[in-house]
Amino acid sequence: MQNYATVTDEGPSIASLLKSSHIRRAYHFIDELQTELDDELVRICEIPAPPFKEEARARFVSQRFQDIGLSRVRSDEKGNVIAERPGLSSKLSPGPRIVVSAHLDTVFPERTDVRVRRDGARFHAPGISDNVCGIVSLITLARALDAGGIVTEGTIYFVATVGEEGEGNLRGVRHLFNAGEFKRGVDAFISLDGPGLERITHRALGSRRYRVTVGGPGGHSWGDFGIVNPVHALGRAIARFSAYPAPLAPRTSYNVGVIEGGSSVNAIPASASMVVDIRSVSSNEIEKLEAHLRRVVEIAVREENSQRAMSGTSLTCEFEQAGDRPSGETPIDSTIVRAAIECSRALGIEPRLDCSSTDSNIPISLGIPAITLGAGGVSGNCHSLTEWYEPTGRELGMKRLLLLTVSLGGFAC
Ligand SMILES: [Zn+2]
Repeated sequence: MQNYATVTDEGPSIASLLKSSHIRRAYHFIDELQTELDDELVRICEIPAPPFKEEARARFVSQRFQDIGLSRVRSDEKGNVIAERPGLSSKLSPGPRIVVSAHLDTVFPERTDVRVRRDGARFHAPGISDNVCGIVSLITLARALDAGGIVTEGTIYFVATVGEEGEGNLRGVRHLFNAGEFKRGVDAFISLDGPGLERITHRALGSRRYRVTVGGPGGHSWGDFGIVNPVHALGRAIARFSAYPAPLAPRTSYNVGVIEGGSSVNAIPASASMVVDIRSVSSNEIEKLEAHLRRVVEIAVREENSQRAMSGTSLTCEFEQAGDRPSGETPIDSTIVRAAIECSRALGIEPRLDCSSTDSNIPISLGIPAITLGAGGVSGNCHSLTEWYEPTGRELGMKRLLLLTVSLGGFAC
């Protein structure tokens, strides 16, 4: 992939971009818009977007993209909404393709009360910071580019993705890069996720999730004593699994988050299952932990079967992968990370390089320059019903995003 963006050596520097009357006009527009953005924040937050059911919010964003004059607004088969702001580039001299995106979905199930309660400068509602503030920034970026009369060399793609959270398993962004619009790659990918200004996520925290289900005949705790017991087998597996010495570097973690099974204290269960989460900044460590998990489950089932061999019963075991997020890293000296650092500093933000699990995991794992940024503002109690958001500093997040987008997309005028 060619890197078009010129950060320090060639093309306009960040400092000279900041002096441009176009950028200044766009910044003025952002400052003037802040009260209106509060209304947009509330409007979008109150359209539910539970896991796997983002359609209503997607329709709204699609309509907004059309209203503000973006080109070729469309939805793909997974429900991602995509729009374009074309640059000067032609077929003969294609400019950089820059994607700016934000996820639509929340972690909250259907029928969660998503009405926003306002308390001074603070907005309370599930999902308001993760990721309604990101969506608001995405829409505002397009409007501010227009307000500044800014022309870029390359095309800027505006994307609202589905399925970022939890069991959504990055299905929206995965489709875009594996089979959809961006399967031939892009020159830069910026994901807006949550509030804050300092964090530049350039490392992708990989994770895998499994459901392990052990089954047996089941029976009476007294009358059938001596037959195989799925809960006992899982207990053996968990004892072994949790003794794994996960390294601190590269940072790695594991968790048996849910165990289920059985129906009564005096019944031998017919089935038991556990859900396991494995994370590491290194895909190699994830592979090692997965192999360990498979091994301890196999040993545990074998032990339980051999201890209860006299009964003539045996256990079955099913191993199912319930999620997979690849890991990787956009190098610190890549154009996109250097530009993000430089744009932050130019606006008085001291950035912090970060590792997290976001939509950028997919492009990063494919070697496409990608980062995730906070959209500005502050928040608390994320992913809980008491989530809140305050737009303090939001305008700075929007200005940084605009500067970075123009810097990567090539400032034509
Ligand atoms: Zn998020």
